[in-house]
Parts: sequence; structure tokens; C-alpha cells
Amino acid sequence: MNGPAWLKVLNSEVVACTRCPRLVAYREQIAREKRRAYRDHDYWGKPVPGFGDPNARVLVLGLAPGAHGSNRTGRPFTGDSSGAFMYPVLYETGFASLPTAISCDDGQVLTGLYITAAARCAPPDNKPLPQELANCAPYLERELEGLKKLRVIVALGKIGFEAYLNYLMRRKQIASKRGYEFRHGAEYALPDGRVLLASYHPSNQNTQTGKLTREMFYAIFKRAREIADKNDDDAPTEKTVSS
Ligand code: SF4
Repeated sequence: MNGPAWLKVLNSEVVACTRCPRLVAYREQIAREKRRAYRDHDYWGKPVPGFGDPNARVLVLGLAPGAHGSNRTGRPFTGDSSGAFMYPVLYETGFASLPTAISCDDGQVLTGLYITAAARCAPPDNKPLPQELANCAPYLERELEGLKKLRVIVALGKIGFEAYLNYLMRRKQIASKRGYEFRHGAEYALPDGRVLLASYHPSNQNTQTGKLTREMFYAIFKRAREIADKNDDDAPTEKTVSS
């Protein structure tokens, strides 16, 4: 694992984590049984650590690993259809070195962007339980503390969005989540100086139904890039990204 010492320590703890018995059983069962198309693959079958640039200004905060995507490959959004939708957009907006993400050793390099998730183990039906999200929150907290240059949080889906607001509530930076409504393109300037950008999750359910188009997703990362590249003395403003 590359990166600063704090991140190496964190990621080695994440990879060994067994706090959620239901998710431990599920991630390992999927890794044993496999999907037919991947029967020759060695599944990762463990918690998936974050991936990207420790000097990132943009954090992508997703939901949880896909059962046959990152639970198979060991890297966020790698080897599944959500990643196939997202990485070309990261490439076009200058955050990714390649427009694809197939495996851990594909040479993909992220610059200025880090990817993490509210839960780090694949959950049944892509639905982590509240207690499982709470169990995983301290890992997110350590990333948010360690990634000192973050300016923009791109929350993919409502669970990622809520995970960041919950973090601010635990730190007593906001008193409640009132006024922070999840809708695609919503943008909130936060008391911690960062900006929260909300996006629909690039799941099949959203991308194959047209609920999330490539143009809508591109607009989110273009806006994230604009905010990230602003001068330090520019205060972020609240507005809605057009899609
Ligand atoms: S979801 Fe998070 S807290 Fe739960 S077992 Fe996986 S890494 Fe640990």
C-alpha cells in the first residue's frame, strides 16, 4: 500500500476488520460462491480500503462495495458497471489517468481525488444496516481528518450524503440535518469550509433507467473541479448544479 503512514495504518486496520458479523459472512460467501463469469477469479472478499490521492481536494463518498465489483477486485468502483460509468467521467475531468478501472494492477492513478464509502464491506441487496454504517463511520472519520486538503465532498447517493452530515453532527459543526436535502446537483457550503455536492449513485438502477445520465454525472465532477481549483480565499457559495 502506498501513501502516508497514517493511511497505511488505517487501511491495514480496515482490511482486517470484522466488526459487522452479517457483512463478514456475506462478503466471504460471495467470494466463495462467485459469479459464473468470474469463476476463475480470486475474489478479494474483505473490506475495501479507500483509493486515490492523499493530497486530494475532492472526496467521492459512495455507499459500499459491489458484491462482484470491488468485493472481487479489492478497489473501489473497480470491475463493475458503476465504475465503468464513473471512471470515464473522472478521466475526462482530469482526476483519473485511465478511463477504465478493471483490476487493482491496471495502472489507474487518481490525482486530486480520493474515493471512499460509508461502508467498506459488500452488503446484501446493497443495503447496509444502520448499525453497520455506525460501525464503519470511525474509518471515514479518520480519512476525513487525514485528508487535509479536501474541499469538496461528492456524495454518491443518499447514504453517502447522510454519512457526511452525520460526521458533521458528531463534530458538533451542524446541530441537525434540517435544510440539507438530498437531490441530484444540490450543493451546500458547510461550516467546516468544505462543499457537499450531491449526486445520484451511478448504480445500474439509476444509469440504465436514465435517472442518471452521463451528462448529469459529468456536470457534477466539472463543478467539483471548479470548486477544488478555486483560490483559498474564495468562499464557496450555495447553488444548484444544472444537469
Ligand atoms: S462494514 Fe466497516 S465496520 Fe463493518 S466489518 Fe466492514 S469494514 Fe468493518
